Amino acid sequence: MRLVLLGPPGSGKGTQAARLKVELGVPHISTGDMLRAAVAAGTPTGLKAKAVMDAGKLVSDDILLAMLEERLSQDDVKNGFILDGYPRNLAQADALDHLLAKIGQPLDAVVKLEVPSQAIIDRVKIRFEAEHRKDDNPDVVRDRLQIYAQETAPVADFFARRGKLQVVDGVGQLDEVTARVRHALNRESVTANG
Ligand code: AMP
Repeated sequence: MRLVLLGPPGSGKGTQAARLKVELGVPHISTGDMLRAAVAAGTPTGLKAKAVMDAGKLVSDDILLAMLEERLSQDDVKNGFILDGYPRNLAQADALDHLLAKIGQPLDAVVKLEVPSQAIIDRVKIRFEAEHRKDDNPDVVRDRLQIYAQETAPVADFFARRGKLQVVDGVGQLDEVTARVRHALNRESVTANG
């Protein structure tokens, strides 16, 4: 299963991906996690990305594409993947389309988690208090939501036009949301234990 999870920051993409990867048996590829690891390791990519990430802006498409191309060339993606945090604009959606066509691994589905902005602000505030991510600061979150609306929301239409988009209500208990995603993927019979 090759799946993209879309949704605003704090919509639960990472949490749902971490659950789904177990039952789907495919890796969870989070570009945000990869970038945070690069920052923590002090790699050249991390050094370039840090200030942009702290400000809640988008890291350059070139950096992201190089990172993703490298990741998708690894062995563990041969049975699929769950992509979380990419694509975040139309140029990235186009680049992903080309990259997956080149490696002969087209997407099976795109699931968008829908969560209203006020719920996002409340959720990310809790994450900020627990994890202290600079980009979860309430002022930065407002900018991130604006970037999402301007840059990332059109990506959903891009996939909808290709008949790949499923929209799922991301409000509710974790199990409820996971069940809705499974339903969208026609995998209701799969239990949380596999
Ligand atoms: P996330 O954990 O997905 O919210 O990502 C954290 C931050 O990493 C974002 O606010 C961006 O600065 C950067 N980032 C992650 N994925 C991308 C992407 N596909 N394009 C550009 N920047 C990204």
